[in-house]
Parts: sequence; structure tokens; C-alpha cells
Amino acid sequence: MKNCQVSVIVPCYNEEEVVKTFHRALVESLEPTGESFEVCYVDDGSDDLTRAQLIHLAAADERVRYITFSRNFGKEAAMLAGLRMSRGDCVVLMDADLQHPPELLPRMLELSQHGYDQVIARRDREGEGALRSFASRSYYRAMGHFMEVSVVDGEGDFRLLSRRAVDSVLALPESNRFSKGIFSWIGFDTTSFTYQNAARVAGRSKWGGRRLLNYGIDGLISFNNRPLRLAIYAGLLMALAAMGYAVWIIVEVARNGVGVPGYTSLLTAVVALGGIQLVTLGIVGEYVGRIYCETKNRPHYLIRETSESPASAVTERPSRMRGSGARAYGSAQPGTVRQFLTFAVIGVVNTLVYLAVYAALNPWIAYLTAHVIGYCVSIIGSFLLNSYITCRTSPTWRAFVRFPLSSLVNLALSGALLYVGVSHLAMGKNIAALIAGVLATPFSFLIARWAITSGAAAPRRTESLLGSQTGRPGE
Ligand code: UDP
Ligand code: MG
Repeated sequence: MKNCQVSVIVPCYNEEEVVKTFHRALVESLEPTGESFEVCYVDDGSDDLTRAQLIHLAAADERVRYITFSRNFGKEAAMLAGLRMSRGDCVVLMDADLQHPPELLPRMLELSQHGYDQVIARRDREGEGALRSFASRSYYRAMGHFMEVSVVDGEGDFRLLSRRAVDSVLALPESNRFSKGIFSWIGFDTTSFTYQNAARVAGRSKWGGRRLLNYGIDGLISFNNRPLRLAIYAGLLMALAAMGYAVWIIVEVARNGVGVPGYTSLLTAVVALGGIQLVTLGIVGEYVGRIYCETKNRPHYLIRETSESPASAVTERPSRMRGSGARAYGSAQPGTVRQFLTFAVIGVVNTLVYLAVYAALNPWIAYLTAHVIGYCVSIIGSFLLNSYITCRTSPTWRAFVRFPLSSLVNLALSGALLYVGVSHLAMGKNIAALIAGVLATPFSFLIARWAITSGAAAPRRTESLLGSQTGRPGE
């Protein structure tokens, strides 16, 4: 499927109990709309059978695409990966647990056809725990005062974005991503409607109290610098109060002389000031920490496999942090055909290099010495070029020692083929040499690739993305 009208992005973290039911419900809702669609599942490093189920879904339905992360990077990273892989004219973000009802999709699509770039399905808080509901409401009220973008209670990630909106979101490079703020920040024509909150169909929410608190702080800090201002105002207020207190003490001393009492108030002031200083330092530290994260420029996530480049099928629960298969987003195992063609071109280039060195040295030194030097230069050049370009890896001494084996194999094989061609098949000597050389090349390619990759250090990263490990809670 090259292009489609709708991409549905579904981050999944330990959703083995629901993902199939979700997919069925999704397809049942989308098919009657007549729109072409793809479903982009992002397995956020699940340690249950979610990944295996996604592989099955992709095998059974060609509209399903997936990527799996090397570990749990958080819902923000999963949504970002989904947005990046999506190809549809519009994109819908939704949870896998059926708390975002697929039955609402036709309505969202209809609204988007009226020209809206964002269609938000806003949930009410019916059936939610009283404590969580109260905390969420208070948080959104506070956010309303503090944040420079508006984040509305109940408006979460369940939304439809036009391609223009998706591109705008992807153009924001920040590492610490707070999607609710980002969606609001990009603007464009937005509409919303309310739906009745639904409970999870199965499985557990991944958002415990501490994660929610961290997410709340992330949101607050990501989209404004008012906490810093607040710290400045609090400091100023305390300084003014301290000055007033000093004036009052001086007046007291002038009126009544020096007295012993007063240490309680003094201690109170010291403790209060100490507390305020610590809070202020903490706020500054939060911002400095964020700057530190941004400058590290780490990828937001690492990919283990995608539906386009599947690894071996999984039937068992994966062990955590199996990092060897991970690679940065966008990098791909170089295809064998591309590698072989590159190897062949490098072979031609190196023959020319050999001839150039040989011809250049010939007038000055013995021709056999010139031959050996030319041969060595071309072998070294071939090794370096094949390491960097063909195999996309850093050269190592171990690989370098193994590499000449490829030339030896080439020499032996082409010699044997030449012999067979000339002696047994009655071919001309020149044409037989050419054919023998061509036939031997794939074998010397395989040996060269083996020498380089088996002696290679860690694979080079081919693309780096900004890093973030931000999680995200329920709405
Ligand atoms: N999720 C994820 N990575 C995480 C946590 C959650 O991809 O680290 C996914 C999860 O599988 C689900 C969605 O994000 O599809 C919402 O998570 P959850 O239902 O736990 O959140 P809640 O609805 O309780 O806010
Ligand atoms: Mg949920």
C-alpha cells in the first residue's frame, strides 16, 4: 500500500490481552467508511506477547504495519514513531485498550472532511476514581493558569490530525516531548466533541501515581518558564519581607535596647528562606536538566524491528533489554544486492588505483616492487571502502587481518575456473579469464563481507534522532 487516506497509530505496551480485539473493532469501524487505511502499531518494548501478536496481525492483514522498540521508551516516543511511519493523508492516534472507541472514527473522519486539521475526541470523567478525577481536574486548572498553550481537561491523544498538522508536529525537534502541549501549540483549525469515558477492556493502566506526577511536572515545565518567574517573585517577596523585618528589629532595638528574645522568629526565617532557596534551585535544576537532555541529542527510541524488516518470529515472552537487535530509527540492514554492486564498483576503482600506483612507481623502482606496493595500496583501499561503504561499519584490525582471504579465494577460484574453461571447455584464454573473474566475484564478495562484519566493532549508527524518555499518562 503506497498511499492511503487514513493512518491509525496505536502505541502498545503490554497489551497482549486486548490488541487482537482492538484490531477487530477498528477494522469493523473503518471498513464501512470506504476510506483506504493502514494501522501502524508501535510496540513500546512490551515484555508480554504483544510483539508476537503484532507480527501475526501483519501477516494476516496487509493494512497492518508495526515497529517494535528495543525497550520501553514511553508513550510519547511511541506516538512519535507512529507519526513518523504514518503515510496517510490524515492520522488518528488512539490507545490499544479500547478506551478510545473505534466507533467514533467515522465521525472524526467526517469532521476532518469539513476542513479541520485537528479533530479531538474529548472524554468525560464518568466512572473514573474520585481521587484521580479530582487530581486531574485540579492539574488542568493549574495548567490553565501557568501554561502558555491551552490544555483542556479530557482532551488527550485521541485525535485526528491532517497531514499538515502531522508534519508540523514532526518538525518540532524537542527531546522532552509533551504531546498535549505540542498539539495545542501547532494550532490550525481544531474542533472537538465529547464522548463517554469507557473502562479498559482488559489489562492494567500503565500510569501509576508517580508516573502521573512526573508527567504532570513534565507538562508544566515543557511549555513555559513561569515557574522560574515564580521563583524570582518568591525570592523578591522574601527579600522584601526580610528587609521589613530588619527595619522592625532596628526600631525595636532603638526603642527598647538589645534583648535576648527573638531567636524563634530568627530560626523560622532561616528555615523558610532555606526552603525557598531549595525549591528555587530545584526549579532551576529541572530546566538545566532539560537543557542537558536536549544537548545530548539522543534518539527518542531505538527500533528492534519493523514490519518492513522483520526479525525472527517471537513465540516466547521476550527478556528485557535485548539490545543487540536495536538500531536507530531509519537505519536498515544494507541489502545484499546493494552491497554486492558497491563491492563490484569498489573492485573496479581499486584495480584502477593499483594500475595508477604501479605505473607511477615503475620508473623509479623495480617493477615487481611497484607491483607489490600497488597491490598493498589497493587491498588497504578496498578494505577501507568496503568497510565504510559496503558494510557500513568501522574498520578493525581483526577484520583487516581476515580481509586478504577474499583475494586469496578470488585468486584460487578464478584460477580453477580459468583452467576448466580453457582446458575442458575449449574457451579462448581471454574470454575464459573474463568469465572466471566475473564468476569468482560473488564468492570473494561473500568472504570480504564475512571478514569485515565478523571482525567488526559495534555497528555504526546511520541516523541519530533527538532523545527523550518522556512518558505520558492518561488524560
Ligand atoms: N502505552 C505505551 N507506552 C507506555 C505506556 C502506555 O505505549 O509506556 C500505551 C498503552 O499500551 C495504551 C496507551 O499507551 O495503548 C494508553 O496507556 P494506558 O491505557 O495505560 O493509559 P491510561 O488509559 O490509563 O491513561
Ligand atoms: Mg487506557
